[in-house]
Amino acid sequence: MQVRLFKPSVGEAELARIREVFERSWLGLGPLVTEFEEAWKRYVGTGAALGVNSGTAALHLSLAGYGFRPGAKVLVPAMTFVATAAAPLYNGFEPVFVDMDPETLSLSLEDLERKCTPECVAVMPVHLGGHPVAMDRLLDFARQRGLKVIEDCAHCTGGSYQGKKLGTWGDIGCYSFEEKKCMTTGDGGMLVSDDVELVDRLRPRRWVGIDKDTWRRAGGYTRQEEDARHWYYEVSVLGYKYNMNDLAAAIGLAQLEKLDAMNRRRREIIRRYLDGIRGLSRLRPLMPYDTAAGVYWIFGVRCEQRDDLIIALKRREIATGVHYMPLTLHPLFKAHRGSVPVAEEVWKTMVTLPLFPDLTDAEVDYVVQALRDFDRGR
Ligand SMILES: *Cc1c(COP(=O)(O)O)cnc(C)c1O
Repeated sequence: MQVRLFKPSVGEAELARIREVFERSWLGLGPLVTEFEEAWKRYVGTGAALGVNSGTAALHLSLAGYGFRPGAKVLVPAMTFVATAAAPLYNGFEPVFVDMDPETLSLSLEDLERKCTPECVAVMPVHLGGHPVAMDRLLDFARQRGLKVIEDCAHCTGGSYQGKKLGTWGDIGCYSFEEKKCMTTGDGGMLVSDDVELVDRLRPRRWVGIDKDTWRRAGGYTRQEEDARHWYYEVSVLGYKYNMNDLAAAIGLAQLEKLDAMNRRRREIIRRYLDGIRGLSRLRPLMPYDTAAGVYWIFGVRCEQRDDLIIALKRREIATGVHYMPLTLHPLFKAHRGSVPVAEEVWKTMVTLPLFPDLTDAEVDYVVQALRDFDRGR
């Protein structure tokens, strides 16, 4: 039996929406992007949403609308995907790495206090693996220090903390619809905020600075009125080619309808894994899992003999991963290194195991058996 690490759940519902796009023959930034943004606003409960072509683009734009001065510092976790810490660099700001909490793997609020200096303008909590950062405590701290809060929700799309959707706690929330994530549009992302004016300021920046979208302009090409200037637009800010397109939005609309069910299935799988590995001596769960209500993208274990475990699973054709090597260990961030001893120690024990909605119980049991055999030295 071969078991993949991640796999998108796509099928007839997505194909039907893609067919509509083909029939309309408008594949770019168009009405479905707006429809998906509206659906997303209703789903998470936020004032404004901006569809973009990746989570990385959303994170880049999230820091672009505040007018922070060049060289300003942005607090980011050391334990995250590179895109989180690339966002300050793209904007000419400096990342300051915050260590992780040894149990939850998300950023340590104690280390956040230690690392925060008066030059810091924002903090980017990542709900790592899906475990929610204690947003009430983080917001108290951020408000005291005047920090903007940008939530990276790439691992927890659809998840909540204290009954409020993740991504709506901070000033801005960013989601990823990359193919491996909780839901997908192939590649794609969404930025949300209750600050409608802020999102309006960011809107042209996802479309090379253009303040009107082509779909609306195209309507004007043939409208029967005495207006020879329907083609007119102005560019007053430097923007990027970051727009979501209708083909991606079509997939997103179908995926959004399934999101809660996919997250429920991931929870069920995690419950099965946890039952299966209970009492093992060389392995323990990667983080505390709330199997009643949590939304997780990563299921994993900690194991002192991490590489032996990876090889043992590989022999049984079970895919594994490591999320993540701390960013401070990458050459790119050498200049920003700082001290993050917990992340640099604990990551050596972390292994990610297969988790996706279409994973069957038989496949989970097969992985569990491999883990149990490894634990007994077989
Ligand atoms: C995947 C991911 C991103 C980036 O999302 P893309 O859509 O792939 O650009 C950002 N942050 C984290 C933590 C991620 O895992």
